[in-house]
Amino acid sequence: MTAPLLSVRSLCVDYEQRRAGVFGSRASTLRAVHDISFELSEGETLGIVGETGCGKTSLGKAILQLVSPSAGRVLWRGVDLARADAKILTKLRSELQIVFQDPLSALNPRMPVGEIVAEPLRVHAADMSARDRRAAVADMFERVGLRPEMTSRYPNEFSSGQCQRISIARAMVTGPKLLVCDEPVSALDVSIQAQICNLLRRLQRETGIAILFISHDLSVLRYMSHRVMVLYLGRLMEIAPRDELFENPRHPYSRALIEAIPEADPDRGPHDMADALPGEIPSALAPPSGCVFRTRCPIATPECARTRPPGESVSASHRVACHHWRDTHARTR
Ligand code: SF4
Repeated sequence: MTAPLLSVRSLCVDYEQRRAGVFGSRASTLRAVHDISFELSEGETLGIVGETGCGKTSLGKAILQLVSPSAGRVLWRGVDLARADAKILTKLRSELQIVFQDPLSALNPRMPVGEIVAEPLRVHAADMSARDRRAAVADMFERVGLRPEMTSRYPNEFSSGQCQRISIARAMVTGPKLLVCDEPVSALDVSIQAQICNLLRRLQRETGIAILFISHDLSVLRYMSHRVMVLYLGRLMEIAPRDELFENPRHPYSRALIEAIPEADPDRGPHDMADALPGEIPSALAPPSGCVFRTRCPIATPECARTRPPGESVSASHRVACHHWRDTHARTR
């Protein structure tokens, strides 16, 4: 068995906040990511799903060290990124790249797109000649389905789908080994979404890159992922191989999300995850005691308010955090 590229161990992310009150402002800590552990291998896509505010983006950014974890470790090819010195971290950064949700705002409007894609090469391949850099950018444009002669144009001359291709070209030009895709198709039309998903899958086949694919859309995740991780209020609810999760979810939250996936029906509106369950998501500043999902869980028991469910193994590759996962199947039918 090959060692995982990425090992995330008990990762936590906190944000300090100041809240205004009658007697002045008060500092408080919002824990956006709580004790998350998982591994990711070469050529694998792990989908991360959950409602707005579940910690998906904070988790992705903490893995890339774009926000500082407050606890836990991120091991990239065995190197603890939080403890790596600046020189090693700069070198490793070329292996760790991100694609953002809004492609247009992720691109500098004042730079020709060829320059935008060449930027990471200037940082991570400083010895490369200008001629080789131009050739690498032209090649990257072709690989993402754009014509090399487009490199002199500006971002506002492209459609949103083309801008996302340019963002992907910029992320891929240094030959990374991990791509964090943060809702990369959410801002795109459905037909363009499929094209971008297919592009990412093809690039993965060609390069063996590992992908963390963050999305609130389970249909997209089902198409893209080998495994899926379900988050709620910053906690890991369930992680399993894709087919196992979709065919036999063990956590009541996963089950509710999967049952809410709309059938292919043109009369139905867009899928909103909040419609999957009654009630509001509790505030992350004051999460419920015990199981954080209990205020919306259809099978909660008094035990759920008392104790936080530990992560348990359903199988070697399937973990769930629910006191009652063994009888979830029968009780929620
Ligand atoms: S631990 Fe209890 S409240 Fe939480 S998901 Fe399981 S049954 Fe529901």
